[in-house]
Amino acid sequence: MLPRHADPIAAIATAPGRGAVGIVRVSGKGLAPFVQGLLGRTLRPREAHYLPFPDAQGQAIDRGLALFFPAPHSYTGEDVLELQAHGGPVVLQLLLARCLEAAQGLLPRLRLAEPGEFTERAFLNDKIDLAQAEAIADLIDASTEAAARSAGRSLSGDFSKEIHGLRDALVHLRMLVEATLDFPEEEIDFLRKADAQGQLSNLQQSLGRVMQRAQQGALLREGIKVVIAGQPNAGKSSLLNALAGAELAIVTPIAGTTRDKVQQTIQIEGVPLHVIDTAGLRESDDEVEKIGIARAWDEIAGADAVLFLHDLTRQDAPDYVAADADIAGALPEKLPEGVPVIDVWNKIDRAPDGGHAPAAPQAGAHGAVWLSARTGEGLDALRRALLAVAGWQSAPEGVYIARARHVQALQAVDAHLMEAGAQLASDHPALDLLAEELRLAQNALNTITGEFSSDDLLGVIFSSFCIGK
Ligand code: GDP
Repeated sequence: MLPRHADPIAAIATAPGRGAVGIVRVSGKGLAPFVQGLLGRTLRPREAHYLPFPDAQGQAIDRGLALFFPAPHSYTGEDVLELQAHGGPVVLQLLLARCLEAAQGLLPRLRLAEPGEFTERAFLNDKIDLAQAEAIADLIDASTEAAARSAGRSLSGDFSKEIHGLRDALVHLRMLVEATLDFPEEEIDFLRKADAQGQLSNLQQSLGRVMQRAQQGALLREGIKVVIAGQPNAGKSSLLNALAGAELAIVTPIAGTTRDKVQQTIQIEGVPLHVIDTAGLRESDDEVEKIGIARAWDEIAGADAVLFLHDLTRQDAPDYVAADADIAGALPEKLPEGVPVIDVWNKIDRAPDGGHAPAAPQAGAHGAVWLSARTGEGLDALRRALLAVAGWQSAPEGVYIARARHVQALQAVDAHLMEAGAQLASDHPALDLLAEELRLAQNALNTITGEFSSDDLLGVIFSSFCIGK
Protein backbone atom coordinates (compact mmCIF):
# COMPACT_ATOMS: atom_id res chain seq x y z
CA MET A 1 0.00 0.00 0.00
CA LEU A 2 1.32 3.44 -0.91
CA PRO A 3 1.62 6.11 1.82
CA ARG A 4 -1.06 8.22 0.12
CA HIS A 5 -3.56 5.44 0.79
CA ALA A 6 -3.20 6.06 4.54
CA ASP A 7 -4.24 9.74 4.37
CA PRO A 8 -7.79 10.67 5.26
CA ILE A 9 -9.51 12.28 2.25
CA ALA A 10 -12.37 14.69 1.66
CA ALA A 11 -14.28 15.87 -1.43
CA ILE A 12 -17.57 17.16 -2.73
CA ALA A 13 -19.20 13.96 -3.99
CA THR A 14 -22.00 15.49 -6.05
CA ALA A 15 -21.72 17.00 -9.54
CA PRO A 16 -20.56 20.62 -9.82
CA GLY A 17 -23.32 23.18 -10.22
CA ARG A 18 -26.51 23.83 -8.30
CA GLY A 19 -28.89 21.16 -7.07
CA ALA A 20 -31.38 20.45 -4.31
CA VAL A 21 -28.84 18.45 -2.34
CA GLY A 22 -25.05 18.33 -2.37
CA ILE A 23 -22.80 15.96 -0.46
CA VAL A 24 -19.41 16.40 1.17
CA ARG A 25 -17.74 13.13 1.97
CA VAL A 26 -14.83 12.38 4.32
CA SER A 27 -13.12 8.98 4.55
CA GLY A 28 -10.30 7.84 6.83
CA LYS A 29 -9.32 5.81 9.82
CA GLY A 30 -10.55 6.88 13.27
CA LEU A 31 -12.90 9.73 12.24
CA ALA A 32 -14.86 9.82 15.53
CA PRO A 33 -12.89 12.62 17.28
CA PHE A 34 -13.00 14.66 14.07
CA VAL A 35 -16.78 14.23 13.82
CA GLN A 36 -17.12 15.35 17.45
CA GLY A 37 -14.91 18.39 16.80
CA LEU A 38 -16.65 19.33 13.55
CA LEU A 39 -20.27 18.89 14.64
CA GLY A 40 -19.92 19.26 18.42
CA ARG A 41 -21.59 15.89 19.04
CA THR A 42 -21.30 12.21 18.29
CA LEU A 43 -23.38 10.49 15.64
CA ARG A 44 -25.05 7.11 15.93
CA PRO A 45 -23.78 4.77 13.18
CA ARG A 46 -25.74 4.79 9.91
CA GLU A 47 -28.51 7.07 11.23
CA ALA A 48 -29.48 10.34 9.62
CA HIS A 49 -29.12 13.32 11.99
CA TYR A 50 -30.61 16.66 11.02
CA LEU A 51 -28.36 19.35 12.49
CA PRO A 52 -26.50 22.60 11.85
CA PHE A 53 -23.06 22.47 10.19
CA PRO A 54 -21.18 25.10 12.20
CA ASP A 55 -18.19 27.16 11.07
CA ALA A 56 -15.17 27.82 13.35
CA GLN A 57 -17.12 30.53 15.22
CA GLY A 58 -20.09 28.22 15.78
CA GLN A 59 -22.30 29.98 13.15
CA ALA A 60 -24.25 27.55 10.98
CA ILE A 61 -22.96 27.38 7.39
CA ASP A 62 -26.06 25.34 6.55
CA ARG A 63 -28.35 22.78 8.14
CA GLY A 64 -28.62 19.30 6.75
CA LEU A 65 -28.21 15.59 7.32
CA ALA A 66 -25.07 14.07 8.75
CA LEU A 67 -24.40 10.34 8.41
CA PHE A 68 -21.57 8.40 9.99
CA PHE A 69 -20.58 4.97 8.66
CA PRO A 70 -17.97 3.38 10.92
CA ALA A 71 -15.47 0.99 9.28
CA PRO A 72 -15.79 -1.52 7.77
CA HIS A 73 -19.48 -0.97 6.88
CA SER A 74 -19.01 1.94 4.50
CA TYR A 75 -18.40 2.57 0.80
CA THR A 76 -14.62 2.79 1.28
CA GLY A 77 -14.28 0.28 4.10
CA GLU A 78 -12.90 3.09 6.32
CA ASP A 79 -14.87 5.41 8.60
CA VAL A 80 -16.96 7.66 6.36
CA LEU A 81 -18.76 10.90 7.23
CA GLU A 82 -21.33 12.27 4.80
CA LEU A 83 -22.72 15.77 5.09
CA GLN A 84 -25.81 16.32 2.96
CA ALA A 85 -26.32 20.03 2.57
CA HIS A 86 -28.08 22.31 0.09
CA GLY A 87 -26.51 21.81 -3.30
CA GLY A 88 -24.97 25.21 -4.00
CA PRO A 89 -21.34 25.40 -5.07
CA VAL A 90 -20.45 28.02 -2.43
CA VAL A 91 -22.15 26.18 0.45
CA LEU A 92 -20.36 22.97 -0.45
CA GLN A 93 -16.98 24.69 -0.84
CA LEU A 94 -17.45 26.32 2.59
CA LEU A 95 -18.31 22.95 4.15
CA LEU A 96 -15.33 21.28 2.53
CA ALA A 97 -13.00 24.06 3.69
CA ARG A 98 -14.48 23.79 7.19
CA CYS A 99 -13.74 20.02 7.21
CA LEU A 100 -10.10 20.66 6.30
CA GLU A 101 -9.88 23.38 8.96
CA ALA A 102 -11.52 21.26 11.67
CA ALA A 103 -9.15 18.41 10.88
CA GLN A 104 -6.20 20.33 12.26
CA GLY A 105 -5.14 18.50 15.39
CA LEU A 106 -8.03 16.03 15.15
CA LEU A 107 -7.41 14.31 11.83
CA PRO A 108 -3.83 14.93 10.71
CA ARG A 109 -3.08 14.87 6.97
CA LEU A 110 -6.75 15.22 5.87
CA ARG A 111 -6.48 16.33 2.25
CA LEU A 112 -8.62 16.72 -0.87
CA ALA A 113 -9.30 13.41 -2.62
CA GLU A 114 -7.84 12.63 -6.04
CA PRO A 115 -10.23 11.46 -8.78
CA GLY A 116 -11.55 7.99 -8.02
CA GLU A 117 -9.84 7.80 -4.65
CA PHE A 118 -12.93 6.78 -2.64
CA THR A 119 -13.52 3.88 -5.01
CA GLU A 120 -9.83 3.02 -4.96
CA ARG A 121 -10.09 2.70 -1.15
CA ALA A 122 -13.13 0.45 -1.58
CA PHE A 123 -11.00 -1.74 -3.84
CA LEU A 124 -7.96 -1.71 -1.52
CA ASN A 125 -10.16 -2.60 1.46
CA ASP A 126 -11.73 -5.54 -0.41
CA LYS A 127 -15.21 -4.03 -0.58
CA ILE A 128 -15.22 -4.57 -4.36
CA ASP A 129 -12.78 -6.01 -6.89
CA LEU A 130 -11.19 -4.13 -9.74
CA ALA A 131 -13.76 -5.16 -12.36
CA GLN A 132 -16.53 -3.87 -10.07
CA ALA A 133 -14.65 -0.62 -9.43
CA GLU A 134 -14.41 -0.09 -13.19
CA ALA A 135 -18.11 -0.89 -13.51
CA ILE A 136 -18.88 2.02 -11.14
CA ALA A 137 -17.12 4.43 -13.50
CA ASP A 138 -18.81 2.77 -16.48
CA LEU A 139 -22.22 3.10 -14.85
CA ILE A 140 -21.65 6.81 -14.23
CA ASP A 141 -20.32 7.32 -17.77
CA ALA A 142 -22.85 5.06 -19.53
CA SER A 143 -24.15 6.73 -22.69
CA THR A 144 -26.88 4.21 -23.49
CA GLU A 145 -29.46 2.34 -21.44
CA ALA A 146 -27.96 -1.00 -22.49
CA ALA A 147 -24.52 0.15 -21.30
CA ALA A 148 -25.95 1.31 -17.96
CA ARG A 149 -27.80 -1.96 -17.38
CA SER A 150 -24.79 -4.09 -18.22
CA ALA A 151 -22.56 -1.92 -16.00
CA GLY A 152 -25.07 -2.60 -13.22
CA ARG A 153 -24.64 -6.33 -13.79
CA SER A 154 -20.84 -6.06 -13.63
CA LEU A 155 -21.09 -3.94 -10.49
CA SER A 156 -23.22 -6.52 -8.75
CA GLY A 157 -20.47 -9.02 -9.47
CA ASP A 158 -21.82 -11.10 -12.40
CA PHE A 159 -18.64 -10.66 -14.42
CA SER A 160 -16.36 -11.21 -11.40
CA LYS A 161 -18.23 -14.42 -10.55
CA GLU A 162 -17.48 -15.80 -14.01
CA ILE A 163 -13.81 -14.86 -13.62
CA HIS A 164 -13.70 -16.54 -10.21
CA GLY A 165 -15.24 -19.69 -11.72
CA LEU A 166 -12.50 -19.77 -14.35
CA ARG A 167 -9.87 -19.13 -11.71
CA ASP A 168 -11.08 -21.99 -9.50
CA ALA A 169 -10.95 -24.44 -12.42
CA LEU A 170 -7.50 -23.18 -13.32
CA VAL A 171 -6.22 -23.48 -9.75
CA HIS A 172 -7.49 -27.05 -9.63
CA LEU A 173 -5.60 -27.93 -12.78
CA ARG A 174 -2.48 -26.19 -11.51
CA MET A 175 -2.57 -28.14 -8.27
CA LEU A 176 -2.68 -31.32 -10.28
CA VAL A 177 0.29 -30.34 -12.42
CA GLU A 178 2.32 -28.97 -9.50
CA ALA A 179 1.69 -32.18 -7.56
CA THR A 180 2.93 -34.17 -10.54
CA LEU A 181 6.09 -32.04 -10.63
CA ASP A 182 6.83 -33.24 -7.10
CA PHE A 183 6.49 -36.92 -8.03
CA PRO A 184 8.06 -37.08 -11.48
CA GLU A 185 8.19 -40.86 -11.77
CA GLU A 186 4.41 -41.11 -11.98
CA GLU A 187 3.99 -37.95 -13.98
CA ILE A 188 2.16 -38.77 -17.19
CA ASP A 189 -0.01 -41.54 -15.87
CA PHE A 190 -1.06 -39.41 -13.01
CA LEU A 191 -2.16 -36.56 -15.28
CA ARG A 192 -3.96 -38.98 -17.61
CA LYS A 193 -5.84 -40.62 -14.78
CA ALA A 194 -6.92 -37.28 -13.45
CA ASP A 195 -8.06 -36.34 -16.97
CA ALA A 196 -6.00 -33.17 -17.03
CA GLN A 197 -6.72 -32.79 -20.72
CA GLY A 198 -10.46 -33.03 -20.18
CA GLN A 199 -10.24 -30.41 -17.43
CA LEU A 200 -8.24 -28.13 -19.65
CA SER A 201 -10.65 -28.38 -22.54
CA ASN A 202 -13.62 -27.70 -20.25
CA LEU A 203 -11.77 -24.66 -18.99
CA GLN A 204 -11.11 -23.49 -22.55
CA GLN A 205 -14.78 -23.84 -23.40
CA SER A 206 -15.88 -21.83 -20.39
CA LEU A 207 -13.25 -19.24 -21.21
CA GLY A 208 -14.60 -19.01 -24.76
CA ARG A 209 -18.08 -18.23 -23.44
CA VAL A 210 -16.83 -15.59 -21.02
CA MET A 211 -14.67 -14.05 -23.72
CA GLN A 212 -17.59 -13.80 -26.11
CA ARG A 213 -19.75 -12.04 -23.53
CA ALA A 214 -16.91 -9.78 -22.46
CA GLN A 215 -16.37 -8.80 -26.08
CA GLN A 216 -20.04 -7.85 -26.32
CA GLY A 217 -19.72 -5.89 -23.09
CA ALA A 218 -16.64 -4.07 -24.34
CA LEU A 219 -18.49 -3.27 -27.54
CA LEU A 220 -21.36 -1.75 -25.54
CA ARG A 221 -18.92 0.38 -23.58
CA GLU A 222 -16.48 1.39 -26.25
CA GLY A 223 -18.34 1.02 -29.54
CA ILE A 224 -16.55 0.98 -32.87
CA LYS A 225 -15.19 3.63 -35.18
CA VAL A 226 -16.91 3.70 -38.56
CA VAL A 227 -15.45 5.87 -41.32
CA ILE A 228 -17.51 6.97 -44.31
CA ALA A 229 -15.24 7.24 -47.33
CA GLY A 230 -15.78 7.91 -51.01
CA GLN A 231 -15.51 10.51 -53.74
CA PRO A 232 -16.82 14.03 -53.28
CA ASN A 233 -20.60 14.29 -53.67
CA ALA A 234 -21.21 10.57 -53.21
CA GLY A 235 -23.46 11.60 -50.31
CA LYS A 236 -21.15 11.01 -47.31
CA SER A 237 -22.40 13.98 -45.30
CA SER A 238 -25.98 13.16 -46.21
CA LEU A 239 -25.47 9.61 -45.00
CA LEU A 240 -23.99 10.73 -41.67
CA ASN A 241 -26.93 13.10 -41.22
CA ALA A 242 -29.40 10.38 -42.10
CA LEU A 243 -27.83 7.99 -39.61
CA ALA A 244 -27.64 10.62 -36.89
CA GLY A 245 -31.05 12.03 -37.73
CA ALA A 246 -29.78 15.60 -37.61
CA GLU A 247 -28.11 18.20 -39.77
CA LEU A 248 -24.54 17.80 -38.59
CA ALA A 249 -22.26 17.87 -41.56
CA ILE A 250 -22.72 20.53 -44.19
CA VAL A 251 -24.55 19.13 -47.21
CA THR A 252 -24.11 21.03 -50.47
CA PRO A 253 -24.10 20.18 -54.14
CA ILE A 254 -20.60 21.68 -54.48
CA ALA A 255 -17.98 18.93 -54.57
CA GLY A 256 -15.32 19.13 -51.84
CA THR A 257 -17.45 20.77 -49.12
CA THR A 258 -16.45 18.48 -46.28
CA ARG A 259 -12.84 19.41 -45.93
CA ASP A 260 -12.31 18.11 -42.46
CA LYS A 261 -13.78 15.28 -40.54
CA VAL A 262 -17.13 15.43 -38.79
CA GLN A 263 -17.83 12.87 -36.11
CA GLN A 264 -21.05 11.77 -34.50
CA THR A 265 -21.78 8.96 -32.09
CA ILE A 266 -24.98 7.16 -32.97
CA GLN A 267 -26.40 4.10 -31.29
CA ILE A 268 -27.94 1.05 -32.86
CA GLU A 269 -29.57 -1.33 -30.34
CA GLY A 270 -27.52 0.38 -27.65
CA VAL A 271 -24.18 -0.19 -29.40
CA PRO A 272 -22.34 3.12 -29.79
CA LEU A 273 -20.94 3.73 -33.26
CA HIS A 274 -18.56 6.64 -33.68
CA VAL A 275 -19.26 7.57 -37.29
CA ILE A 276 -16.83 9.85 -39.07
CA ASP A 277 -17.56 11.70 -42.29
CA THR A 278 -14.38 12.50 -44.19
CA ALA A 279 -13.31 14.76 -47.02
CA GLY A 280 -14.10 13.32 -50.45
CA LEU A 281 -11.26 11.30 -51.91
CA ARG A 282 -10.06 12.68 -55.23
CA GLU A 283 -7.04 14.22 -56.95
CA SER A 284 -6.89 17.87 -55.94
CA ASP A 285 -4.62 20.89 -56.38
CA ASP A 286 -6.29 22.82 -53.57
CA GLU A 287 -3.88 22.84 -50.60
CA VAL A 288 -6.63 22.90 -47.97
CA GLU A 289 -8.53 20.13 -49.67
CA LYS A 290 -5.34 18.07 -49.96
CA ILE A 291 -4.86 18.26 -46.18
CA GLY A 292 -8.46 17.14 -45.70
CA ILE A 293 -7.89 14.21 -48.04
CA ALA A 294 -4.69 13.18 -46.22
CA ARG A 295 -6.64 13.29 -42.95
CA ALA A 296 -9.39 11.20 -44.49
CA TRP A 297 -6.84 8.49 -45.30
CA ASP A 298 -5.51 8.71 -41.71
CA GLU A 299 -9.03 8.19 -40.38
CA ILE A 300 -9.54 5.27 -42.72
CA ALA A 301 -6.30 3.70 -41.46
CA GLY A 302 -7.62 3.87 -37.88
CA ALA A 303 -11.15 2.64 -38.61
CA ASP A 304 -12.81 -0.47 -37.22
CA ALA A 305 -15.09 -0.52 -40.27
CA VAL A 306 -15.33 1.50 -43.49
CA LEU A 307 -18.43 2.46 -45.44
CA PHE A 308 -17.26 2.93 -49.02
CA LEU A 309 -19.87 5.15 -50.61
CA HIS A 310 -20.63 5.08 -54.36
CA ASP A 311 -22.92 7.40 -56.32
CA LEU A 312 -25.31 5.31 -58.42
CA THR A 313 -26.28 8.27 -60.59
CA ARG A 314 -22.75 8.48 -61.96
CA GLN A 315 -22.17 4.89 -62.89
CA ASP A 316 -22.23 5.78 -66.61
CA ALA A 317 -19.34 8.26 -66.16
CA PRO A 318 -16.13 6.31 -66.91
CA ASP A 319 -13.93 8.78 -64.95
CA TYR A 320 -16.08 8.41 -61.86
CA VAL A 321 -16.10 4.62 -62.07
CA ALA A 322 -12.33 4.55 -62.63
CA ALA A 323 -11.75 6.80 -59.60
CA ASP A 324 -13.88 4.47 -57.46
CA ALA A 325 -11.76 1.58 -58.71
CA ASP A 326 -8.60 3.46 -57.66
CA ILE A 327 -9.99 3.96 -54.14
CA ALA A 328 -11.05 0.32 -54.00
CA GLY A 329 -7.48 -0.61 -54.93
CA ALA A 330 -5.91 1.70 -52.34
CA LEU A 331 -8.17 0.69 -49.43
CA PRO A 332 -6.58 -2.71 -48.68
CA GLU A 333 -3.13 -1.07 -48.56
CA LYS A 334 -4.27 1.52 -46.02
CA LEU A 335 -6.44 -0.68 -43.85
CA PRO A 336 -5.14 -3.04 -41.19
CA GLU A 337 -5.96 -6.62 -42.01
CA GLY A 338 -9.43 -7.79 -41.20
CA VAL A 339 -11.07 -4.35 -41.11
CA PRO A 340 -14.40 -4.76 -42.92
CA VAL A 341 -15.40 -2.54 -45.84
CA ILE A 342 -19.08 -2.29 -46.72
CA ASP A 343 -19.89 -1.03 -50.22
CA VAL A 344 -22.75 1.43 -49.96
CA TRP A 345 -24.52 2.28 -53.22
CA ASN A 346 -26.24 5.60 -52.62
CA LYS A 347 -29.02 7.56 -54.33
CA ILE A 348 -31.24 4.62 -55.31
CA ASP A 349 -34.07 7.17 -55.51
CA ARG A 350 -32.46 8.59 -58.65
CA ALA A 351 -30.80 5.51 -60.07
CA PRO A 352 -32.17 4.46 -63.48
CA ASP A 353 -32.94 0.82 -62.69
CA GLY A 354 -33.61 1.13 -58.98
CA GLY A 355 -29.88 1.03 -58.47
CA HIS A 356 -29.09 -2.61 -58.85
CA ALA A 357 -26.40 -4.39 -60.83
CA PRO A 358 -23.76 -1.66 -60.35
CA ALA A 359 -20.88 -1.56 -62.77
CA ALA A 360 -18.14 -0.29 -60.44
CA PRO A 361 -15.83 -2.69 -58.61
CA GLN A 362 -16.68 -3.65 -55.07
CA ALA A 363 -14.12 -3.26 -52.32
CA GLY A 364 -16.20 -4.73 -49.58
CA ALA A 365 -15.71 -8.31 -48.61
CA HIS A 366 -18.49 -7.59 -46.17
CA GLY A 367 -21.26 -7.17 -48.64
CA ALA A 368 -23.05 -4.23 -50.07
CA VAL A 369 -26.04 -2.13 -49.20
CA TRP A 370 -28.22 -0.11 -51.57
CA LEU A 371 -29.85 2.94 -50.09
CA SER A 372 -30.92 6.53 -50.39
CA ALA A 373 -29.46 8.92 -47.86
CA ARG A 374 -32.14 11.36 -49.02
CA THR A 375 -35.28 9.25 -48.56
CA GLY A 376 -33.93 6.92 -45.89
CA GLU A 377 -34.78 3.81 -47.90
CA GLY A 378 -32.29 1.04 -47.17
CA LEU A 379 -30.94 2.65 -43.97
CA ASP A 380 -32.21 -0.23 -41.83
CA ALA A 381 -30.26 -2.69 -43.93
CA LEU A 382 -27.16 -0.55 -43.38
CA ARG A 383 -27.79 -0.49 -39.61
CA ARG A 384 -28.05 -4.28 -39.59
CA ALA A 385 -24.85 -4.60 -41.65
CA LEU A 386 -23.07 -2.28 -39.19
CA LEU A 387 -24.17 -4.31 -36.18
CA ALA A 388 -22.98 -7.45 -37.94
CA VAL A 389 -19.50 -6.10 -38.69
CA ALA A 390 -19.28 -4.71 -35.15
CA GLY A 391 -19.73 -8.29 -33.97
CA TRP A 392 -22.91 -7.58 -32.02
CA GLN A 393 -24.73 -10.84 -31.49
CA SER A 394 -26.72 -10.79 -28.31
CA ALA A 395 -29.63 -8.91 -27.09
CA PRO A 396 -28.22 -6.73 -24.30
CA GLU A 397 -29.85 -8.90 -21.62
CA GLY A 398 -27.23 -10.90 -19.78
CA VAL A 399 -24.28 -8.92 -21.11
CA TYR A 400 -22.07 -7.41 -18.45
CA ILE A 401 -19.96 -4.40 -19.16
CA ALA A 402 -16.31 -5.07 -19.87
CA ARG A 403 -13.37 -3.10 -21.08
CA ALA A 404 -10.83 -3.65 -23.82
CA ARG A 405 -8.32 -4.43 -21.06
CA HIS A 406 -10.50 -7.31 -19.83
CA VAL A 407 -10.85 -8.74 -23.32
CA GLN A 408 -7.07 -8.53 -23.81
CA ALA A 409 -6.47 -10.28 -20.49
CA LEU A 410 -8.88 -13.08 -21.47
CA GLN A 411 -7.11 -13.42 -24.82
CA ALA A 412 -3.79 -13.75 -22.98
CA VAL A 413 -5.32 -16.46 -20.77
CA ASP A 414 -6.51 -18.22 -23.93
CA ALA A 415 -3.03 -18.08 -25.50
CA HIS A 416 -1.41 -19.57 -22.37
CA LEU A 417 -4.02 -22.33 -22.21
CA MET A 418 -3.34 -23.17 -25.87
CA GLU A 419 0.36 -23.57 -25.03
CA ALA A 420 -0.50 -25.66 -22.02
CA GLY A 421 -2.78 -27.80 -24.20
CA ALA A 422 0.04 -28.37 -26.69
CA GLN A 423 2.27 -29.64 -23.87
CA LEU A 424 -0.42 -31.92 -22.49
CA ALA A 425 -1.13 -33.38 -25.91
CA SER A 426 2.50 -34.30 -26.56
CA ASP A 427 3.85 -37.74 -25.67
CA HIS A 428 6.58 -36.23 -23.52
CA PRO A 429 5.13 -33.08 -22.02
CA ALA A 430 7.59 -30.66 -20.46
CA LEU A 431 5.87 -30.45 -17.11
CA ASP A 432 7.73 -27.35 -15.97
CA LEU A 433 6.64 -25.49 -19.12
CA LEU A 434 3.09 -26.71 -18.63
CA ALA A 435 3.11 -25.49 -15.04
CA GLU A 436 4.54 -22.15 -16.12
CA GLU A 437 1.88 -21.59 -18.80
CA LEU A 438 -0.87 -22.30 -16.29
CA ARG A 439 0.72 -19.91 -13.80
CA LEU A 440 0.88 -17.16 -16.44
CA ALA A 441 -2.73 -17.87 -17.38
CA GLN A 442 -3.77 -17.36 -13.77
CA ASN A 443 -1.81 -14.11 -13.49
CA ALA A 444 -3.52 -12.77 -16.61
CA LEU A 445 -6.91 -13.75 -15.19
CA ASN A 446 -6.13 -12.10 -11.86
CA THR A 447 -5.40 -8.74 -13.50
CA ILE A 448 -9.13 -8.51 -14.31
CA THR A 449 -10.31 -8.61 -10.71
CA GLY A 450 -7.16 -6.88 -9.49
CA GLU A 451 -5.73 -9.69 -7.43
CA PHE A 452 -2.54 -9.25 -9.39
CA SER A 453 -2.16 -5.65 -10.49
CA SER A 454 0.64 -3.16 -10.62
CA ASP A 455 0.28 0.26 -9.00
CA ASP A 456 0.68 1.74 -12.50
CA LEU A 457 -2.43 -0.06 -13.73
CA LEU A 458 -4.39 1.09 -10.66
CA GLY A 459 -3.23 4.66 -11.26
CA VAL A 460 -4.46 4.60 -14.85
CA ILE A 461 -7.82 3.09 -13.93
CA PHE A 462 -8.72 5.30 -10.97
CA SER A 463 -7.42 8.58 -12.37
CA SER A 464 -10.16 8.40 -15.03
CA PHE A 465 -12.87 8.66 -12.35
CA CYS A 466 -14.48 11.90 -11.27
CA ILE A 467 -13.45 13.55 -8.03
CA GLY A 468 -15.52 12.53 -5.02
CA LYS A 469 -16.20 9.06 -6.45
P1 GDP B 1 -20.43 14.35 -49.87
O1 GDP B 1 -19.59 15.29 -50.61
O2 GDP B 1 -20.06 12.93 -50.22
O3 GDP B 1 -20.44 14.55 -48.39
O4 GDP B 1 -21.91 14.49 -50.43
P2 GDP B 1 -23.15 15.29 -49.81
O5 GDP B 1 -23.76 14.54 -48.70
O6 GDP B 1 -22.77 16.71 -49.57
O7 GDP B 1 -24.14 15.16 -51.02
C1 GDP B 1 -23.82 15.61 -52.32
C2 GDP B 1 -25.12 15.87 -53.07
O8 GDP B 1 -25.82 14.65 -53.29
C3 GDP B 1 -26.09 16.78 -52.32
O9 GDP B 1 -26.72 17.63 -53.23
C4 GDP B 1 -27.08 15.79 -51.72
O10 GDP B 1 -28.34 16.38 -51.53
C5 GDP B 1 -27.13 14.73 -52.79
N1 GDP B 1 -27.51 13.44 -52.25
C6 GDP B 1 -26.94 12.78 -51.23
N2 GDP B 1 -27.55 11.59 -51.01
C7 GDP B 1 -28.55 11.51 -51.91
C8 GDP B 1 -29.56 10.51 -52.22
O11 GDP B 1 -29.68 9.46 -51.60
N3 GDP B 1 -30.39 10.79 -53.24
C9 GDP B 1 -30.29 11.92 -53.98
N4 GDP B 1 -31.15 12.08 -54.95
N5 GDP B 1 -29.38 12.86 -53.72
C10 GDP B 1 -28.51 12.68 -52.71
